[in-house]
Amino acid sequence: MEQHLSQLGEFGLIAQIRERFGTPDGVTGIGDDCAILPQQSGRNTLVSTDMLIEGTHFLRRDISPYDLGWKSAAVNISDIAAMGGHPTATFLSLALPATTTTEWTEEFLRGYAELSERFGVPLLGGDTTASPDRICINVAVLGECPYGRARLRSGALKGDVICVTGSLGDSAGGLKAILAGVKRDPDVQRLIEKHYRPIPRVPEGEELRLNLGVNAMMDISDGLGSDLQHILDASGMHAEIDVTALPLSLALKRVCTSQGWDPVELAVSGGEDYELLFTCTPQTEVLLSVPHFVIGKITDRARGDAKINWRGAQRPIGPGFDHFKKK
Ligand code: ADP
Ligand code: MG
Repeated sequence: MEQHLSQLGEFGLIAQIRERFGTPDGVTGIGDDCAILPQQSGRNTLVSTDMLIEGTHFLRRDISPYDLGWKSAAVNISDIAAMGGHPTATFLSLALPATTTTEWTEEFLRGYAELSERFGVPLLGGDTTASPDRICINVAVLGECPYGRARLRSGALKGDVICVTGSLGDSAGGLKAILAGVKRDPDVQRLIEKHYRPIPRVPEGEELRLNLGVNAMMDISDGLGSDLQHILDASGMHAEIDVTALPLSLALKRVCTSQGWDPVELAVSGGEDYELLFTCTPQTEVLLSVPHFVIGKITDRARGDAKINWRGAQRPIGPGFDHFKKK
């Protein structure tokens, strides 16, 4: 039967691709933040790639080329941080309309370079082509970590506590403010900056990797609701989240109060925070030196059909972002 992607959804399509291609022994392929390849040296190479499309991921009239360059590098490097890896190189592919100015490309590269230099990641190649209309950016990122030590989405264990490395919802609040044309006071400005200039949690990811009790990890790109679901699916677990424990920044709370928005909805369903979401044993959690917030725990059973029990929620909680499904 013919089915459109709007019904199948982004993750249905990825499942279709995954079924079509096998994964060689000893390799982790589709399904985590990065692929993991064993090296002769006894270390693991991590690889990930992510695309940003004008009109879908950004609006050219709103984002500066500097911020777009920064964000393109940041969101990719974040997938290496998500596994606890060390980023080693990026490759940048650009499809640009011929009308793009050299001033634009210079600013784009300045932002890309600034974020990359911050984490010492060189740009080693890519591809360049003309686009008829929209800007399309693809980045591939390489990283590494000791053999078998990358943290997967599938490692969560019953009794683990669920943690995040920073506040949630700021980026989604910033996007909402941009789209609604909200006046840019310092709070709104802060949220917009989080949206345009996310900082991948690279040292935090590497530090967390050193703690053996950290069992599962990923970065939050689609939103807590959707991304936690990936950990639960991969680990065969359920979860209880204490909605009142979700870390919300003061800026987000103030902007939400003045605009009549729900900060919890932004924290749960809004994406692009690029904080790390991880699970660890309670004994490990109390010893962690990386700043973090405990937001819930892993269980082997949930009430009802849903895998996540949102405790203390004032209203029903919806799913995160899917590129093909309409909300
Ligand atoms: P992330 O949000 O961490 O970038 P995604 O949700 O985009 O991860 O992707 C989930 C998994 O599916 C990843 O392992 C990714 O490599 C894989 N994937 C996504 N799109 C494709 C594709 N077109 N072909 C092969 N694998 C894909
Ligand atoms: Mg990711």
